[in-house]
Amino acid sequence: MSTGIEKAVRIVKNYVNGEFVEPENSGYIEVENPSTGEVIAKSPLSTAAEVNRTVEKAYAAYREWSKTPVARRVSYLFKLYELMRDNEEPLARQIVEENGKSMPDAVAEMKRAIENVEVACGMPVLQQGDNIIGSSFDIDGEVIRLPIGVFGMIAPFNFPAMVPFWFIPYAIATGNTFIVKPSKQVPLTLQMIGEYFNEIGLPPGVFNIVNGDRVVANALMANPKVKGISLVGSTPVARQVAKTCAEQGKRFQAMGGAKNHLVVMPDARIDEVIRNMVTSCYGCAGQRCMAASAIVCIGDDVYREVAERFVEASKNILVADPLAPSVADERMVMGPVISSQAKKRILGLIQDGIDEGATLALDGRELVVEGKEGGHFIGPTVFTDVKPGMKIHRTEIFGPVVVILKMDSLDEAIAMINEHEYGNGASIYTQNGYYARKFKLEVEAGMIGINIGIPAPVAYLPFGGMKASQFADIKAQGKAVINFYTEDKIITERYWAD
Ligand code: NAD
Repeated sequence: MSTGIEKAVRIVKNYVNGEFVEPENSGYIEVENPSTGEVIAKSPLSTAAEVNRTVEKAYAAYREWSKTPVARRVSYLFKLYELMRDNEEPLARQIVEENGKSMPDAVAEMKRAIENVEVACGMPVLQQGDNIIGSSFDIDGEVIRLPIGVFGMIAPFNFPAMVPFWFIPYAIATGNTFIVKPSKQVPLTLQMIGEYFNEIGLPPGVFNIVNGDRVVANALMANPKVKGISLVGSTPVARQVAKTCAEQGKRFQAMGGAKNHLVVMPDARIDEVIRNMVTSCYGCAGQRCMAASAIVCIGDDVYREVAERFVEASKNILVADPLAPSVADERMVMGPVISSQAKKRILGLIQDGIDEGATLALDGRELVVEGKEGGHFIGPTVFTDVKPGMKIHRTEIFGPVVVILKMDSLDEAIAMINEHEYGNGASIYTQNGYYARKFKLEVEAGMIGINIGIPAPVAYLPFGGMKASQFADIKAQGKAVINFYTEDKIITERYWAD
């Protein structure tokens, strides 16, 4: 029955060649607020023809944009930086509405996205090449770093703003043009950011948004004018994208899933450790490629103490709709998982853990948030007595589910982590420099924490994993990604006197 006060369902548009457009599509998909289950928007499933038209616009824009002086190029990013910073709060609220993470998590996401714009503003220095005067008699050598063309980015649902910004500002500042495909589950934050791109007066076609599903991703990969693709998503998709791009002779970055381990040594500062582990495990309801999801305790005593205290601390998390006014001042709020399908998958994995014989020390399955029965909530869930190789240890659960394992030594823990399929992040808690050094050198993971939860590096540093967490050698953000967006050309030159 209509109450007459329903909120309007927004219609998401594409942003192509400097305009918001209703694209050719094969239908619309509903976008939900995962805290309520309410439909908040409809997003178009753009067709391959629509992608190809956008590529043509981006390609046409590239010809002028690549010749625009780099200082002029970044002058647009300075304006974008200001707009995003001034609107950090509404942008964060938009993230919460479509993704369900807590407001502090969303603000942190926005800060990191903006930080990437800030780093890319240094492109006049960062893009500089190299030279050698006198590489031989009367001969000089020079390396110049040139833009390449049109680039595409295929985004995941868990960071609607930050992950695309590992790429967007760098691609544009280096002189390329860009097409981003947001996750169909969370298209609204980039829609808002598209309005800021519109406002800064960037030449049409330099930045474009095409909404949709894998049809859009596949069309971007198939188009020969798209010179490179950055995909951030689950490992099977990353593997497939890496393979397709390699076959097409395209540059690619393909970043996949994760299972990140926290190792607790007997000399760890347990009081600090527990608090730190809780935020590392449950931030964004565990839906982060840098969520800690496996705690490895070295020795019986550490295992007993950490398991007991971690379970108790997990009970203190307030599970709620992060936009409910009553939770505004709470620090430890955890929202829902992204969808009913995600919840069903996670509940299935919890059942697998029980069937495998692990102990369900904290069960979040029955949790209900009063008044938000349509939301996809799962309470903090902890398994103890977990053995390496159990499905709940092998699999990226991507929810608020933590497994706790016991090992006899650091060597055993490192060997176990290195045998694991994924290698995104890993952390150790210890006061001992020898253990810390051994861990950072020997663990096969791209991002290491020492006395800190699984750390997502600031934008001044690269971001990326190893093994099945990353299928390419160039990492995201910072100076690293500039290599992806530029071609080194090496010139050797000589002149004779008249
Ligand atoms: P997903 O793999 O389902 O989707 C990611 C993107 O790929 C979406 O835009 C989707 O439309 C597109 N896609 C789906 N199937 C495709 C196909 N067959 N071909 C081409 N494109 C396709 O991932 P998700 O559920 O949106 O995001 C969560 C996953 O992302 C988790 O596994 C998480 O660990 C991972 N992630 C990794 C990192 C990292 O840095 N390694 C960062 C964030 C998220």
